[in-house]
Amino acid sequence: MSIKERIDDLKDQIPIHANLIAVSKTRTLEEIEEAYLTGIRDFGENKVQELVDKYDKFHKDVKWHFIGHLQRNKVKYIVGKVFLIHSLDSIQLLNEIEKKFASAGETANVLIQINIGRDENKSGILIEALEELISACEKCNNVKVLGLMTVIPKGDESSNRKYFRKMKEIFDDLKTKNYKNISMEYLSMGMSGDYKIALEEGANVIRIGEGIFGKRNYNNK
Ligand SMILES: *Cc1c(COP(=O)(O)O)cnc(C)c1O
Repeated sequence: MSIKERIDDLKDQIPIHANLIAVSKTRTLEEIEEAYLTGIRDFGENKVQELVDKYDKFHKDVKWHFIGHLQRNKVKYIVGKVFLIHSLDSIQLLNEIEKKFASAGETANVLIQINIGRDENKSGILIEALEELISACEKCNNVKVLGLMTVIPKGDESSNRKYFRKMKEIFDDLKTKNYKNISMEYLSMGMSGDYKIALEEGANVIRIGEGIFGKRNYNNK
């Protein structure tokens, strides 16, 4: 199947309110162009350098999503270039984002990444740290939290469903609260292997790489 065929196929399956992000990490501009031509405008990258390169060289109406672990010393490079940072996972990172976006007169849109599976190899905050991070976000002037993101541990369908459901519960609970700077619009969860379950459990942003572009070959980079 071509990139266009895979995208058409996905669009047929996902509900109208859900946002499809094409995860373009490791892909060439030619490959990304194929997705762009089908109408996709949301692309996801997990490396700062790669996002910045592609931002500079690609169509200016693209919304770039940063979905990887964000190091504090690299925040400055994505100011003004990133549409949504999916991976806010510490107060230190929050403070750096606030500082760098403020000095450029910009506002950062972010999602809080939750390590819902308590997986030591994954980033994201543990749920017990959520309240403190939210309080810190309320004190910001240049950061808006628009929702939550997670990457779940590998597992079977029932385990996937359990983690997605927990995320939706937290999302719905936060939705009822009136925090400053925080609104629950986006629940970013689900990748190529598990997006159907994620959508069933309430995701409204899915991040698809291989399901659009085919298998990734990291040796190309
Ligand atoms: C790579 C990546 C994806 C996409 O994964 P696929 O399995 O290729 O769909 C989604 N989210 C994050 C955070 C990623 O790093």
